[in-house]
Amino acid sequence: MKIIMLGAPGAGKGTQAKQIAKKFSIPHISTGDIFRANIKENTELGKKAKEYMDQGMLVPDSLTLELIMDRFKNADCANGYVLDGFPRTIPQAEALTKALADNGEKIDFAINVEVPDESIVNRMSGRRACLSCGATYHIKYNAPAKENVCDTCSAELVLRDDDKPETVLKRLSVYHEQTQPLIDYYKNENVLREVDGTQDMNKVFDDILAILQ
Ligand code: ADP
Ligand code: ADP
Ligand code: ZN
Repeated sequence: MKIIMLGAPGAGKGTQAKQIAKKFSIPHISTGDIFRANIKENTELGKKAKEYMDQGMLVPDSLTLELIMDRFKNADCANGYVLDGFPRTIPQAEALTKALADNGEKIDFAINVEVPDESIVNRMSGRRACLSCGATYHIKYNAPAKENVCDTCSAELVLRDDDKPETVLKRLSVYHEQTQPLIDYYKNENVLREVDGTQDMNKVFDDILAILQ
């Protein structure tokens, strides 16, 4: 099964993608996580990506596409995947459609997690990330057992640089301009499904399961 998660930054794509991946034994592929891992390792890709990410802008399509096409070659993608944060632009979506079509494949579902802008800044300021294992928490809605410590790997949790309110507002405007058009793109492909992302995270997951099963 090949699934795309759509939605604004902070809508809950990563939270849901992790659960879908576990349930269906497919990899969770987050371009943001891959960029952050590269920044941590100080790779050339990481250095380039950081310039854009810190400003709340998108990393250029060419860099992003190179990275994701390489990731798809990994053997763990044989039974599908859940994509979180990719595609984010129409050219990225078109490149994905074409790469899949070349192998006689297509996306099964694009799930749009709907959350209004008003709720986003609040969510992001409470988000805490583990840069070691990629786990995500929320100080109020999904708190770790011990404050600021990852439940999974015990690393220290951080507020991402790009989750500060001023950068979040920039990311939201970039989302509306460049990513929201993907909703119509996948509607036209007949694979779009919508869920109400303002609900409790377990309820959101139940709604997603009802779509996938
Ligand atoms: P969020 O989880 O809040 O949606 P991500 O972790 O997916 O954020 O992405 C963080 C940043 O990484 C984005 O603001 C952008 O700069 C960059 N990024 C991630 N995925 C892409 C992509 N597909 N295209 C371009 N830039 C991306
Ligand atoms: P995205 O990947 O779309 O940027 P995340 O999954 O990282 O979003 O979620 C953003 C923040 O909101 C995290 O702190 C997460 O714990 C929290 N969160 C996710 N889903 C919900 C929900 N349904 N209700 C409340 N908070 C949520
Ligand atoms: Zn961790």
